[in-house]
Amino acid sequence: CGIVGFTGRQEATSIIIEGLRKLEYRGYDSAGICTMSDGKASIRRSEGKLSNLEKLLASSPVLGTVGIGHTRWATHGRPSEINAHPHQAGPIVVVHNGIIENYLQLREGLKAQGHVFKSETDTEVIAHLIDQKMKECGSFEAAVRQALSILKGAYAICIVSESEPDQLIAAKHGAPMVVGLGDGEFYVASDIPAILSHTRSMIFMEDGEMVVFKGGSAEFSNVNGEKLEKTPRHIDWSP
Ligand code: GLU
Repeated sequence: CGIVGFTGRQEATSIIIEGLRKLEYRGYDSAGICTMSDGKASIRRSEGKLSNLEKLLASSPVLGTVGIGHTRWATHGRPSEINAHPHQAGPIVVVHNGIIENYLQLREGLKAQGHVFKSETDTEVIAHLIDQKMKECGSFEAAVRQALSILKGAYAICIVSESEPDQLIAAKHGAPMVVGLGDGEFYVASDIPAILSHTRSMIFMEDGEMVVFKGGSAEFSNVNGEKLEKTPRHIDWSP
């Protein structure tokens, strides 16, 4: 399973697919991608190999310079297109590696608030929870932070929102995540090889941290909202 996110000036799709391919060694049963263009999320998902997703993208391309991609190793819900990530709720689109332990309880609460679930995954509660928090507080970033304080379990997640189509937010707890710094561009991935062909300047995320990419900058903070100064490391090994 793996995650790749990108925000910059180039088209995101090929960067994300190439990154996911470098994460294939982690294993997966389905794959998906979301890019943002003209304030709309374009999502493509397919069961099986990345080549299936690539075929789909060849006949039905997605455009945009902000995007997130995912290879799924199913833990909750069988491998299928419906259960493949990304998952969307309202304007919120999420990819996730890991397991949300309190998802059943959260799902019941969200259903009672009118949320309609489409998949069997634990991941879909993340999208609905952020969507719900955003309805309450109006801010994408604050909604993500509030949701993170409620989620229990292990996760590396990337989130985009049609409300803030130039932003990308990533967070981690108990699953690996690295941020790559480009020239006014940013990469996020589960592991170094996914982005090593683009940058060697990397920041390793710690549990309980999140990063907001917006306006050509990366702002790191913890779940409490305290800003963090993170120092990039230069990766000099060859793939
Ligand atoms: N638990 C999530 C699911 O089953 C994510 C699995 C993964 O890490 O790929 O959809």
